[in-house]
Amino acid sequence: PLGLVWLRRDLRLHDHAALHAALRVCDKVALAFVFDRDILDPLLQRGLRADRRVEFILAAVAEIDALLHERGAALIVRHERAREAIPALAAELGAQAVFCGRDDEPDALERDAAVERALRADGRDLHAVKEHMIFERDEVLTAQGKPYSVFTPYRTAWLARYDAQPQHPLDSRVQPERLAPLPARMQRPLPTLSELGFAPTNLRELKLPLGATGARELVDDFQRRIDDYDQARDYPARKGPSYLSVHLRFGTASVRELAAIAWARQQAGSEGARVWLSELVWRDFYFQILFHHPHVVNAAFKPTYDRIEWRNDPAQYAAWCEGRTGYPLVDAAMRQINETGYMHNRLRMVVASFLTKDLGIDWRWGERYFADHLNDFDLAANNGGWQWAASSGCDAQPYFRIFNPVSQSEKFDANGDFIRRYVPELAALSARDIHAPWKAPAALLQAAGVSLGVTYPAPIVRHDLARAETLERYAVVKGE
Ligand code: FAD
Repeated sequence: PLGLVWLRRDLRLHDHAALHAALRVCDKVALAFVFDRDILDPLLQRGLRADRRVEFILAAVAEIDALLHERGAALIVRHERAREAIPALAAELGAQAVFCGRDDEPDALERDAAVERALRADGRDLHAVKEHMIFERDEVLTAQGKPYSVFTPYRTAWLARYDAQPQHPLDSRVQPERLAPLPARMQRPLPTLSELGFAPTNLRELKLPLGATGARELVDDFQRRIDDYDQARDYPARKGPSYLSVHLRFGTASVRELAAIAWARQQAGSEGARVWLSELVWRDFYFQILFHHPHVVNAAFKPTYDRIEWRNDPAQYAAWCEGRTGYPLVDAAMRQINETGYMHNRLRMVVASFLTKDLGIDWRWGERYFADHLNDFDLAANNGGWQWAASSGCDAQPYFRIFNPVSQSEKFDANGDFIRRYVPELAALSARDIHAPWKAPAALLQAAGVSLGVTYPAPIVRHDLARAETLERYAVVKGE
């Protein structure tokens, strides 16, 4: 039999769950990727023509296609609606079954159900296998058989399960003779970015290595730093985290391989590896929250939080988006996401807290902005992070704990190095004055070439007043 492997968020050939599954039961395999119009067209309709993710995917797909060419085959690439293209390709190839990695986002589940129905009607099967999680769905449950909504006990149970059942990398090496020959009419050159309707971005100017080869480079680099992760990860000016999130998002890196690396180092006593592994556990945690509680996509995990009445001032929202709130660390962070598509985890927490608790803007506005701009945007993690910051989520911070944007800045960017990188108009200020320039003596501001309201904005809110307002706004959830 012939199996069609449908690549989605698993853009690599090694340690590939769907390919592994196909090779176990099929003599021949073919591989396909669809630039899905159901995902891309809405972006274009909203005018979002420059999207680093489309370029990232294109680079990963080109790398896979080149690897398949070395084996005398090719990747089938289409720019259509996946729900139509996949059943059509399966029919054209005479495939008995389609294999893919499971995706538990609500839209993806709906799409996959439609593909499965179309395949079934034609006598073919869809096999979705666990791919980008370590443990998914019901694999980690409480003693009462319920999903967890608190992280720490979830992690304990996750680690116990991993200890008992480590999720080893899978063999998906494919010999040239196992690759189905493609009829000439099915072989088409890869689409270009402009054929897909998108405009070039600055992706290639960023230092982000692309494709599975790029992921390998980052993994090698991070393995040399992982022992320091717990010490370095909170300081945005330092090279602390792995920068692997976009590769985990699109599967150019394998989560099984990464968990195995972290587990082994943790067993050898590395505190950095222990903490980093916890981050991968957070990733599974939020995916299982989304799977068991899909209402979080549009609503608060804790329903009473939907009673909060947000201020939602469009001008303040625009200032936040554009990095001109007058709070230097917030502005540096927003400029980082705008210029690179990445934002350091500490800063995601700072700007999310600022939007919801200093500006009183609905967390969904911020969630949407991140969804449009983050290279690593993942519905589950992004929603979880935003609801955590807004205090409306599972195991979120209590609403009365409100980040102070200035003390966060003094603590996590003490020298102001990160601020100077992204807010160059403040670069000449000292480490003491850069966190809250409105408090600096006029003479020092003048000497540094800073004129508040002219070269750099005055703060758009006063934190102490905003804090008091937020406590009032959140009073509707008191006692919940
Ligand atoms: P590392 O510190 O090296 O972490 C390793 C990996 O663990 C990450 O690549 C990621 O896959 C996972 N991870 C780390 N922290 C978390 C977390 N809190 N929740 C879930 N997974 C985590 N992460 C995303 O991948 N996509 C998002 O859309 C996203 N949106 C966020 C929004 C907010 C408001 C917040 C507070 C956090 C968000 N995160 C998101 C989590 C985290 O900020 C990023 O995963 C991390 O900054 C990515 O950088 P890294 O790969 O260098 O991380």
